[in-house]
Amino acid sequence: MRTDPIPRVLTLAFLLVLLVSPPLRAAEPAPAASAVPGRSALIADDLTPVPVPQPSALAVRYHETGNWIWGLSELWSLLVPAVLLFSGASARIRNVAHKLGRRFIFTVGIYILLFSAIVFLLDFPLHFYRGYLRQHAYGLSNQSFHKWFSNSVTQAGIGAVVSALFVWIPYLLIQRSPRRWWLYTTILTIPFLFVVVLVKPIWVDPLFNDFGPMKDKALEREILALADRAGISGSRIYEVNKSVDTKTVNAYVTGLLGSKRIVLWDTLLARLDNREVLVVMGHEMGHFVLGHVPRSILLSSLITLVSLFWVDRAGRWLIARAKGRFGFDQLSDVASIPLLLLLLQVASLALVPVANAYSRQQEHEADRFALEITRANRDAALAFVKLQEENLGVPRPGFIYRFWRGSHPSIGERIDFCNTYRPWAQGRPLRYSRWIRPESAVPR
Ligand SMILES: [Zn+2]
Repeated sequence: MRTDPIPRVLTLAFLLVLLVSPPLRAAEPAPAASAVPGRSALIADDLTPVPVPQPSALAVRYHETGNWIWGLSELWSLLVPAVLLFSGASARIRNVAHKLGRRFIFTVGIYILLFSAIVFLLDFPLHFYRGYLRQHAYGLSNQSFHKWFSNSVTQAGIGAVVSALFVWIPYLLIQRSPRRWWLYTTILTIPFLFVVVLVKPIWVDPLFNDFGPMKDKALEREILALADRAGISGSRIYEVNKSVDTKTVNAYVTGLLGSKRIVLWDTLLARLDNREVLVVMGHEMGHFVLGHVPRSILLSSLITLVSLFWVDRAGRWLIARAKGRFGFDQLSDVASIPLLLLLLQVASLALVPVANAYSRQQEHEADRFALEITRANRDAALAFVKLQEENLGVPRPGFIYRFWRGSHPSIGERIDFCNTYRPWAQGRPLRYSRWIRPESAVPR
């Protein structure tokens, strides 16, 4: 549900890697259900279905204009590299970088820094409208212009520096192994992605917001008791002060190994009651228990493999036909960066629906886990109602949204599922019972 306002230049950080990857389980709203000691969830009112709310006129407008702006951004992501490529501008940037850097590795680094700065400026108007003006116009943002701007520059800066440090590697591979570089690059992205997911919560996320322990200790104890039942020991829960930035609500799981954590936006804690928060926690724990973070990394790698293979074949084909205009005749020339970005963007449009379908399935299973561990269907459904209202969502988006942007089942589908999924009441087995300890088994 959270759409990270990551400027496109940041994707350069993971050029050939993250551009086409599905969202790294980075964030989303995900209610599940609650476990209140000594209270049966199956009281009468819990069985009353929660109606899927009609979206407000404002939410419908936000959704519809959002689709147009998304389409425009996708087009822009094709147009910018295409212009830099076909005008020969990229070759001229490479000449400057070569003059300054001389050696291959410095030439690549300086090219990346120059290219990132140019793309940041070209993207800025749309980025500013989408990430700042529009969010304020719809009353979704609390962010000052200063903070928005410094976040944008920081993100772009991190992206440019990380890219400058690493992008020489695929280029070296293209030189050394022109036929198999796409395979070797993909293999290298797997440890790279693991490291990114490992360190991002520790080194990057705190640059943008304050992460601290939960303030409500009683609620924290309830969450930890739920984590015990899910077999997650020593889980860390962070509260992040997103209220300085946004009025929307969210929670997410992130990190790997020692950096694994559940993060709750303070806006979500302010808006949801405790049982609803526990539902959200059950959902996030489901992602952990079911191994969704490492699985998403593996899917990203598969998508990277297909994308790079396409880049290799289509790139060579295009260079053979337009090298005069491009100003370079080898894929191994760093001036080919916009060509790679252009082809990766095409691959992304084709493959993101696959990644989304997989993500929706994971989200659905995390919802199921949440319901099975808390059996608080009504609280779950009510949490979704609040998510829809606070985030100006629409319950049943159309085909284009679901296909290209729907990383989660629609809110309507999720509420429907909460209203109907009660295998324990029908004497049917639970899918995740082997991962869920009964409340009585948890020492207090
Ligand atoms: Zn989720």
